[in-house]
Amino acid sequence: MVARAWSLACNACGKCCDSPPALTLREWFARRSVFIGSLAIERVARRRVGERLVAQGVARVLDAQDVAEHDALADALFHRLGARDAGWISITLQGYDYPSAARCPALAHDGRCTLHETGKPGRCEAVPLDPLVPDRWQAVTLGARRESVRALGADCIREGLQVEATPLIDGARVIDTRAIERERAALIFERKLWRDAVAAALLASPGALLALAPGARLTIAPVPALLAVARVSGACRQACVDVIGEQRRLIESSVAAALARRRSDERAFTQELRGFALAHARAFDELARLPAAAMSQDQDFAREVEGWLGG
Ligand code: SF4
Ligand code: SF4
Repeated sequence: MVARAWSLACNACGKCCDSPPALTLREWFARRSVFIGSLAIERVARRRVGERLVAQGVARVLDAQDVAEHDALADALFHRLGARDAGWISITLQGYDYPSAARCPALAHDGRCTLHETGKPGRCEAVPLDPLVPDRWQAVTLGARRESVRALGADCIREGLQVEATPLIDGARVIDTRAIERERAALIFERKLWRDAVAAALLASPGALLALAPGARLTIAPVPALLAVARVSGACRQACVDVIGEQRRLIESSVAAALARRRSDERAFTQELRGFALAHARAFDELARLPAAAMSQDQDFAREVEGWLGG
């Protein structure tokens, strides 16, 4: 059963900010001293007509238009994993932290987002809608999110159009698509900046990706993205060097805090972060040796990217 309408009554309690968000590369560069970056790689399954999506009391049986819209969006945002039936891989620049923190590092102690005034990440602006799924089944996303925020003690995602709540969906229509469209546009622009290059490297030996179950996640250091961006221009290379320096400092202080907590369940995360630090150190050396001839010869693209990263 799909509710006809949905609303959001957000009082900015911050309860849904229980982990670092997904970021665009531009957002990560701007918030390099707030978020440790990682790359999260996931399989995205093909959808089929007649498939039933269910989330906590909300269901949708996919029709041909649902599947066509999913295929079109997935082709725009993700990368095909070989044969058509194998689906796609999504590569997300994801903020990383110890799960024991159970909060986004940008969350203030009064529950407010410290980035609110200067600009929250686009993925947060779109919440509770999801830019990665077609508009026609955002109601299923809302059903799942309603249950997850209820588990955190919030009752902000509500069925029906309610007074003093922001209307989200009326029928099958998303009422205000601006935030999800902005986020999709940013992700599409950044495909050619770094995600296509990272995907090409990953897909050159796709064994590990094909072994990933849909929904499972592989996490790696964000270094391949930085190495792709650094090849755009000298200014981009310097921006990447600056980000690497800041990330090494952030990782070092995060690991030092974890060692002081002496929690055995955090050892695997500490090991992963140390791997990130090592990868950043190697990337720093590689960028120091990067010859000018390795830079893109496309001056228009370089100017566009420099504007994007500086904007
Ligand atoms: S849990 Fe709900 S009310 Fe609280 S900040 Fe998130 S969306 Fe807003
Ligand atoms: S950046 Fe702000 S809105 Fe986004 S998860 Fe963190 S605290 Fe919440």
